[in-house]
Amino acid sequence: MSSNPAVASFSTITTIQKTTNIPETARDKFFTNGEKGRSAKCVLCGETVKGNLGVTSNYSRHVEKEHGIEFQLSN
Ligand SMILES: [Zn+2]
Repeated sequence: MSSNPAVASFSTITTIQKTTNIPETARDKFFTNGEKGRSAKCVLCGETVKGNLGVTSNYSRHVEKEHGIEFQLSN
């Protein structure tokens, strides 16, 4: 009678952490969140710029036009 030795197998679980790279836009840098993403307030001059959440052209245009130096520094 021979008893088999208990073999404990360890499985290595590797967890892959997903890193989401969200590009910083002019909106993220110079604007604070307004009402439900439909508008945002410029932190440089306090002006409220309206624009859609996914469209950042309005915001970047404001910074480029009103705050040219800051806009160039951000790029
Ligand atoms: Zn501004």
